[in-house]
Amino acid sequence: MFVCTGGHRISTTQYPNENEFNLLSQAAAERAIAEVGQSLHAFCDALAEGLDSANAWIQSEWGENLVHSDRDTMIANVANELIMRHVIEDAPACVRCPECGRFYIQRQVYENSYDGFVPEAAAQS
Ligand SMILES: [Zn+2]
Repeated sequence: MFVCTGGHRISTTQYPNENEFNLLSQAAAERAIAEVGQSLHAFCDALAEGLDSANAWIQSEWGENLVHSDRDTMIANVANELIMRHVIEDAPACVRCPECGRFYIQRQVYENSYDGFVPEAAAQS
């Protein structure tokens, strides 16, 4: 639960949530694209050698939890984890109040403090 300075309660327990975002700079996006590409290339090389090799690569990256015997599930897990690791986890969280449009941007990733911004139209009325 997040309460905006206008007093509106914003649910943050629902996932996925239309009121929550991640703020990714162009530089961070470029780094993420390069890092996902490099990791995907390494994973595809391992997968070309077989499922055991691919699972060994997965285990070296994330441990036992993502090791899977089904090739399609394995690929989906790797794609999901690469996006999470390189795109979402590095980007500050943002929350938008659906009632008044105020926007709150996390000061640091993994920190529970936010800077709030009021839409210009609301500030002038
Ligand atoms: Zn609000």
